[in-house]
Amino acid sequence: MTDALPQVVWFKRDLRVFDHACLAQAATKGPVIPILMVEPAYWALPDSSWRQFELLRQASVSLKEQIADIGGALRVWEGDALSCLAALDDEIGAFDLWAHQETGNDWTYRRDRAVHEWCAKHNLTFREPVQYGVWRGSLLDRDRWAKDWDALMARSIYPVPTEIEWHSANPKGFAADIPGAETVGLTHDGIAGIQPGGRAAATATLHSFLYHRGRDYRTDMSSPQLGAKGCSRLSVHLVAGSISMRECYQATVKRKDELKDDASPHAKAWRASLSSFIGRLHWHCHFMQKLEAEPEMEFRPVARAYEGMRPDVSAEWHAAFATGRTGFPFVDACMRSLIATGWINFRMRAMLMSFACYDLFMPWQEAGTILARLFTDYEPGIHWTQSQMQSGETGINTLRIYSPVKQGRDHDADGRFIRRWVPELAGLDGGAIHEPWKHGGVRGYPEPLVDHAVAAKAARDAIWTIRRTPEAKVEATDVLLRHGSRRRPMARRKSAPRKVKA
Ligand SMILES: Cc1cc2nc3c(=O)[nH]c(=O)nc-3n(C[C@H](O)[C@H](O)[C@H](O)COP(=O)(O)OP(=O)(O)OC[C@H]3O[C@@H](n4cnc5c(N)ncnc54)[C@H](O)[C@@H]3O)c2cc1C
Repeated sequence: MTDALPQVVWFKRDLRVFDHACLAQAATKGPVIPILMVEPAYWALPDSSWRQFELLRQASVSLKEQIADIGGALRVWEGDALSCLAALDDEIGAFDLWAHQETGNDWTYRRDRAVHEWCAKHNLTFREPVQYGVWRGSLLDRDRWAKDWDALMARSIYPVPTEIEWHSANPKGFAADIPGAETVGLTHDGIAGIQPGGRAAATATLHSFLYHRGRDYRTDMSSPQLGAKGCSRLSVHLVAGSISMRECYQATVKRKDELKDDASPHAKAWRASLSSFIGRLHWHCHFMQKLEAEPEMEFRPVARAYEGMRPDVSAEWHAAFATGRTGFPFVDACMRSLIATGWINFRMRAMLMSFACYDLFMPWQEAGTILARLFTDYEPGIHWTQSQMQSGETGINTLRIYSPVKQGRDHDADGRFIRRWVPELAGLDGGAIHEPWKHGGVRGYPEPLVDHAVAAKAARDAIWTIRRTPEAKVEATDVLLRHGSRRRPMARRKSAPRKVKA
């Protein structure tokens, strides 16, 4: 391969060498230069945060070690992508560029388009294999999406390439070490302890979920306490790409098969839980595909009829929600737990979004930014599409307005979770702790910002006033065609969606 072009493999949200399509394919074409970019402009965005940086830093340190184990050296660039590519071009001349397709936020989307233009201008080839079951532009066939996803997940895993010819260049301006968050201007954001990142943590988390923790996944997942252990906790590793979606999928299918021969009384529960889990992996890509197909979803509702419906809320309400001081004990406990740990289960994410967008009538863009920064596992494709759905601005999904008190009673009946995260209320018993305002209140803990029943009714009325208009009904049909699930292609369904029921 002496005359072959250098193959630059740009590691992004795919910080591993196992099941890495770019590395495996690049290695067959020429000498490889593995690079990582730390882009300060990305870390200055309102939806990025210290905890997300720290997760990626840990995963990058792990990647550096994985590359060293197979004889290579990761080159780290601090700065923007185009100056990184220009520096490489100056040093080594023409090269092929590889990176997995990324469905990030608007910033990464524009950056990737700029990289494509730069490569075209410099006559360089930029290859972008798919890593999740998410397809770009003309590669997307919505009717075949579910089948294509199944096929991608079942495809053979790329083993760690052992015979790589590494390029000898040590280009100027690149470092060997992964910088800390202070170099991009981020300061510690109050998290008490981050879920450890990197390859070893990712594989151990998958294994412990499949063999020890996951049996009661289906029931544990709804509780913020049980869910912390009973959910897979793989989100951070999928976001950093320390483990591939395909690896998770195939390991789960294998475990399910093993359980077929298991005569123990728990085997059935295990298999049902693992089926639910596979469904969630599917959702991961299903939601990301929506943002990939319609990047404006990060800023605008898919159903434009709802645009601008919610005014900005006061700075006081904004701060009360963001710091867990709304006067609703279960909401505040969930928020404070999220601030301290960087994670909360699905049901409670939905409840927090519901509280912000129905009870406080905050725009989902605002509530979504507060939450995005707190999620160590922030994944724009899931986050923004879920934010729209949970706030009722898709025009097609059922409105789910959660009662904070009922959620607390259902998932924290004895108030233990509340007591842990809202110590001001530690003196209240299981009955009073969910509604302290009905028991004389507690000094130092705020009164509820709103009356839930009144606020929920006002929000529901506002949304239904729009939903009932002929324009919104027409638009809903269109949204369903663009974004509705198509497990079975439309044409083969008994009834294609002519009439839309919310
Ligand atoms: C408002 C809101 C915002 C969210 N933002 C994010 C986000 O930024 N990043 C993120 O990874 N998830 C997000 N989710 C989805 C879900 O809450 C998390 O994926 C899950 O809680 C992560 O924990 P886990 O890995 O233990 O999940 P598990 O329940 O073990 O699920 C396994 C994996 O399946 C995927 N998954 C699970 N539930 C969903 C779902 N409802 N939609 C899409 N994929 C799903 C995730 O990749 C997850 O890691 C959001 C949900 C809501 C309601």
